[in-house]
Amino acid sequence: MGRTSKDKRDVYYRLAKENGWRARSAFKLLQLDEEFHLFQGVTRAVDLCAAPGSWSQVLSQKIGGQGSGHVVAVDLQAMAPLPGVLQIQGDITQLSTAKEIIQHFEGCPADLVVCDGAPDVTGLHDVDEYMQAQLLLAALNIATHVLKPGGCFVAKIFRGRDVTLIYSQLRVFFSNVLCAKPRSSRNSSIEAFAVCQGYDPPEGFLPDLTKPLLDHSYDFNQLDGPTRIIVPFVTCGDLSSYDSDRSYPLDLEDGSEYKYTPPTQPPISPPYQEACTLKKKGRLAKELRPQDCPISTVDTLSQ
Ligand code: SAM
Repeated sequence: MGRTSKDKRDVYYRLAKENGWRARSAFKLLQLDEEFHLFQGVTRAVDLCAAPGSWSQVLSQKIGGQGSGHVVAVDLQAMAPLPGVLQIQGDITQLSTAKEIIQHFEGCPADLVVCDGAPDVTGLHDVDEYMQAQLLLAALNIATHVLKPGGCFVAKIFRGRDVTLIYSQLRVFFSNVLCAKPRSSRNSSIEAFAVCQGYDPPEGFLPDLTKPLLDHSYDFNQLDGPTRIIVPFVTCGDLSSYDSDRSYPLDLEDGSEYKYTPPTQPPISPPYQEACTLKKKGRLAKELRPQDCPISTVDTLSQ
């Protein structure tokens, strides 16, 4: 999202920079909280799939009053430090990462677990939905180890074909499950958020990290009758707030001119870092392929 990119017309992207959030996603959590009061009474929280860290920023500012809350943030990627946030770099689907998270809450459980995890989308919808569901289930598995009774779990969900199965799974553990779509989440995206309140595992349930929560032998087409859970769908965020699918003019409503605001936290180890370093040294050159060369050069090259 560079200076000249069209994205500066995305009002939430612009607002995030102006308000010091590391990513536009901050507004999704803020709008979810407006509707569900997620942070009420919360002092200990886990932010899964947290980089670049805008949800952790929101959590550290909102919970426990004046930053006395305790937030653990986890991501595959390194994240720039944030005051009051303990960071773990790791894969939430891996046992070692899950154990590391859990040990921080032993004897003192969390009130809230959030997960905004998204896989690198391939464009193959079934694959993307499956990967997303795996992240959600990994997050749920961690939540069953760290949440206090009555605690809350919020996770990004793709509203795909088999989403009902995930709702059913979530309903096993929470007394209230619904699907929410904040105004800042684009309508064009199948993304939504499962908001699960009232952690109440079945009697005798023993959390077990080694067992995936989803029963893979389940026939997705058999979900009917009492097993077919239809969860309420709620849109949230003030209806007068900006529409994330619209592009807004760059000049502001008060007539002032658009002024570029740099990102709050530039990426700390972006994949293009090596190319930038080489470019600065003037050593960034494309490797020549014969088909890219003029005929005379190809002749020379092949000699
Ligand atoms: N909520 C974040 C914020 O507000 O800044 C944005 C999260 S971003 C949409 C999705 C993140 O999920 C990426 O940073 C990615 O590295 C992370 N992720 C994807 N798969 C993961 C995994 N298996 N374990 C940990 N993090 C993962």
